[in-house]
Amino acid sequence: MALYQDQVVTLKARPYRDHDALLTLFGRRHGKIAAVARGVRRSKSKLAGQLHPLTFSAVTLYHGRSSLDTVTEADLQKGFPRIAEDLARLGWAMVLADVVDQLLPEREASAESFVVLLSALDALNQRRHAASVGLRAGFRLLALAGFSPDWSVCSGCSRAINSGPITVDVATGELYCGVCRPESGRPQDRISLGSLRSLQYWLNDYPNKFDQADVKGQMEEELKRLFFRYLLHETAKPLKSYEFLSNIDRLAEAPEGGDRT
Ligand SMILES: [Zn+2]
Repeated sequence: MALYQDQVVTLKARPYRDHDALLTLFGRRHGKIAAVARGVRRSKSKLAGQLHPLTFSAVTLYHGRSSLDTVTEADLQKGFPRIAEDLARLGWAMVLADVVDQLLPEREASAESFVVLLSALDALNQRRHAASVGLRAGFRLLALAGFSPDWSVCSGCSRAINSGPITVDVATGELYCGVCRPESGRPQDRISLGSLRSLQYWLNDYPNKFDQADVKGQMEEELKRLFFRYLLHETAKPLKSYEFLSNIDRLAEAPEGGDRT
């Protein structure tokens, strides 16, 4: 039983009892932490406003016999106010928080995942292209959580992939180059060589860098489809944040005044 300090991104916060909140925090040194913030929903609480979802804070926590730790102090470091200005930025930030929440184990530090998440929130807050930041960070988080195939070698000929289109089998994690392409592969399982190269580059580059060229058009569509199919395969249930993001995409595609159902 002890007090400890960490820097955390608040992934989730939900009301608890009259004035408390149940939090899912992602700590730089302690990994994912379930915690309660007592009295946080009272306006006079010193914790009020310090622990909103998708913000970065320095906290002191008490770890006792309960599985829930208690936040005793919190000091907001970055609020990322510009993320909520735009639905696509907000949607992708929620997806990344969900990925960490759903796929990373409790109380296991992952310093690189922390850097990826924090840097992605920073990049979104700087109004960078939301899908490019989200996909880059999302694929990296999947890989760090151990849910990612080897994106470089063909499962058919065992060589480095140098021809497209590439067929990806999400269920088995197998990839096939353009030459070995299985007959059974569906068009929606394919990505272009350009998309694969972007993915390989993202996974090998510095985890805190988001200044690469944006992915747009067909590449964005292919990589988004692939990312969410992988995510669905690993989480086995659609994430609310994914539904939110899909609805935004549909709104963006609907013609002005057109049918949006
Ligand atoms: Zn091959």
